[in-house]
Amino acid sequence: MLIRSQLEHALAGLSQRALRRKRHVRTTPVLPECIVDGKTYLNFASNDYLGLANHPEVIMAFQRAANTYGVGSGASHVVSGHTMVHHALEEDLAGFLGYPRVLVFSTGYMANVGVITALARHIKVIFQDKRNHASLIDGSRLAHRPLERYRHSSMSDLSRRLANYSTQMGLVVSDGVFSVEGDLAPLPELSQTTHQAGKLLMVDDAHGVGVLGEKGQGSLSYFQLPACAVDILVGTFGKAFGTFGAFVAADEVIIETLLQFSRSYTYTTALPPAIAAATAVSLQLLQTETWRRHHLRALIAYFQAGAASLGLAYTPSITAIQCIEIGDPAKALDRGERLAAQGIRVAVMRPPTTMPHHSSLRITLTAAHQKRQVDRLLECLVQGN
Ligand SMILES: *Cc1c(COP(=O)(O)O)cnc(C)c1O
Repeated sequence: MLIRSQLEHALAGLSQRALRRKRHVRTTPVLPECIVDGKTYLNFASNDYLGLANHPEVIMAFQRAANTYGVGSGASHVVSGHTMVHHALEEDLAGFLGYPRVLVFSTGYMANVGVITALARHIKVIFQDKRNHASLIDGSRLAHRPLERYRHSSMSDLSRRLANYSTQMGLVVSDGVFSVEGDLAPLPELSQTTHQAGKLLMVDDAHGVGVLGEKGQGSLSYFQLPACAVDILVGTFGKAFGTFGAFVAADEVIIETLLQFSRSYTYTTALPPAIAAATAVSLQLLQTETWRRHHLRALIAYFQAGAASLGLAYTPSITAIQCIEIGDPAKALDRGERLAAQGIRVAVMRPPTTMPHHSSLRITLTAAHQKRQVDRLLECLVQGN
């Protein structure tokens, strides 16, 4: 059949350009030491930034809720899937983040698509940072509205584009912490520029919440900004919370609009209650076990000092994401494979996740790592350099 040979041709093209993705089978929990395809590795490729995915209290909360509620939630939130556990989690998050209301979504991808499409009926244009997460871009595609992609973190480019739509309702969208390089959006300027232009601001802080700020409230807290600086804040539970799912924080009218009009909220099964219960415990722990954030910060500084003294070219980032830019995808893949041969797992980022010619190694540090493991990482990075 013609279609099959075309598909095969496209797949072969990916392999040829070193862009084909492969999966590896892990047989141990998400911990700094893991077994993948039968071999032991140091894992620098997980987003479990605070090491909560295996916290005994989080696991116990999950087990207890599963005993009480069973496994599946049975239906979407608007039918019969919404439990007291979900409801309490939303209220806890609203208090933690200082927003009037929070809505829990089944994944971050769906939260981003859901917010943008639900608002689209009232919005004429969407502005997005060029390096925004794919789920935000996909939200815009489904929204059928003009998309203005401004230069990465360039407030002058954003301003110039905003000026072309001065009378239209618009939404400005940015990652809080960019997911490949770990750099922060210039949130104070972004908020001011957006609001001066009379537009709404949506920030996806998937990599900021839990990690940044004294109590882990994320990018806003890092910049000491009030909640009103960002109209719509998205966060995910699959990263620093160590669980699964996502949330949107906003005011009453926006959250109620999402509840009514987000198809990715309405037409999907609610998160299992046990996941919500585990996440509620993670939310407590990320506030009380402050040592996790402190230890992570110390490891970040330790890695950077080590990398600098060894002459490794890394992209400076104050977050758990540390990026070493390589450029060519085949070279990046080769570096990743050589690290794997030395027992180190990092993520190899290639197009379409990155811009063309910006392939990189994405190294993530977590509160579960130890200094000696970072030493080993640096040793192997230098050998492969
Ligand atoms: C991981 C991530 C998402 C998607 O969240 P999931 O819950 O994994 O679907 C969205 N945005 C950003 C910036 C992310 O890093």
